[in-house]
Amino acid sequence: MKRVATRIVERKRQGNRCVVVVSAMGDTTDELIDLTKQIVSGTPPIREMDMLLSTGEQVSSALLSMAISELGEKTVAYTGWQAGIRTESLHGKARITSIEPKRLLKALSEEQIVIIAGFQGLTEDGEITTLGRGGSDTTAVAIASAIKADICEIYTDVDGIYSTDPRIVKVARKLKEISYDEMLELANLGAAVLHPRAVECAKHNKVNLVVRSSFTQNEGTQVKEEAFMEQGVVVSGIAYDKNVARISILGVPERPGQLATVFSALANEKIDVDIIVQSGVVQGQAEFSFSLSSADLDRAVAVIESTHSIVGFRELTSENNLVKVSIVGAGMVSTPGVAAKMFTTISNLGISINMVSTSEIKTSCVIDGSRLNEVIQALHTAYGLDADSTVFVGGKAERR
Ligand code: ASP
Ligand code: MG
Repeated sequence: MKRVATRIVERKRQGNRCVVVVSAMGDTTDELIDLTKQIVSGTPPIREMDMLLSTGEQVSSALLSMAISELGEKTVAYTGWQAGIRTESLHGKARITSIEPKRLLKALSEEQIVIIAGFQGLTEDGEITTLGRGGSDTTAVAIASAIKADICEIYTDVDGIYSTDPRIVKVARKLKEISYDEMLELANLGAAVLHPRAVECAKHNKVNLVVRSSFTQNEGTQVKEEAFMEQGVVVSGIAYDKNVARISILGVPERPGQLATVFSALANEKIDVDIIVQSGVVQGQAEFSFSLSSADLDRAVAVIESTHSIVGFRELTSENNLVKVSIVGAGMVSTPGVAAKMFTTISNLGISINMVSTSEIKTSCVIDGSRLNEVIQALHTAYGLDADSTVFVGGKAERR
C-alpha cells in the first residue's frame, strides 16, 4: 500500500491530476467468497453477495488514501456510488450505465488525489452492485472516459501484454502496442490480463489505455485504435483456452430446422457453444459437431439427448480434454497464407486439427490438449514472435 502511494504521489508531483481506482487487496475477494461457504449451504443470495464483495475495494480505497495523506498530499477516498457510478440492476455482473463525475472533478480541481473503490456501483434503486470478477479494470476505463483523462494506466502483476503466455514460452515478448480489436480477441481467448469489458469500453470511448507493472518502472503495452504494425509481423499474439470439449451428432436426417432445434435447446439451458461445423449431406443424413466449455459437457449431452425424439439422430459422441489455440493479428486481414502456416505448423508436429474457426483477425484450431505447450512454442517461432528473432522494421533488420 505504501509503495503504491509513493508511486501515485510521484505521478502527482510530476504535474498530473490523478484519479486512482483500486481493487481489493491480494486474495480478499476469494476469501470473502470462502466465508459465505461457511454460512450458506446452497447459492448465497446475490444482493447480499454484492454487499459483501464490494467491501474489499472499500478497504483498499480508505487505506490507500491514508497512505497518501501520510506522504503529505491531499486525498479523498470514494465508494463506487460516491464517485457517481450507476449500473444496471444485475447483481454479480452489472454493467455501468452512467457516471456523474461532478464530485470527482470538484475534488480534482482542489488538487486532491481521488481514490475510487473499483468493481462496484449503484442501481437506480440505490442497491450496491458489483461488475463481475476482474471488474476494477472496467471501473478504471469508464472513469477515465467520464473525466476525459489523457491516459488510463492499468497496473498489474505483469509488465504488459505478451505475445503469448510467458509461463509456456520463455521467449515470449512484451508488445509495445496492440489494437483494441486484437486485445479484445486475446482478452476473450483467455489472456487474463485485462477484463474484456474494460477493453470494450476503452474501444468504444477511445480511451488511451496502458498496461504496466505495479512492481517495475518498465514501459508497458499501449492498447489503442490502430497499433503500429511491424513489417512482416502479421500475428501479434497466441492465446489458448484449455477447457474445451466437443460434441458430434451423427446421422441427422436432413430436413429444415434440425440445427435450430438442437441449438435452441442448448440456448434455453444457457449453454454457450463456440465453433459449430456442419458437414455435407450424404444419403440424406448430415453430421454436426460443435465445441463448448468442458464444464458444460454433461449438461449439453443431456439436453441433446432430450431432443432425440424430434431430431432423430443416429448417434451422439463427445470428447473432453481438448484445447483451442488461436493466433490473433490485425495484419491477417490483408496477408494470404497466415492460416495455412498455422495448419502446417500443427501438422508438422503430427497433431491433427479437429475444428477450425476464423474471423478477420483470428484463426482458432481445436486440438487434443496433451501437447498444447509444444504447439504454442512452435507457432510462436513460426510467426517470428520469439524475442530473439530478427524482424525488419522500415527495411532495417532489428533483433528483438
Ligand atoms: N476484487 C475483484 C475481483 O477479485 C475485482 C478486481 O480485482 O478487479 O475480481
Ligand atoms: Mg485485475
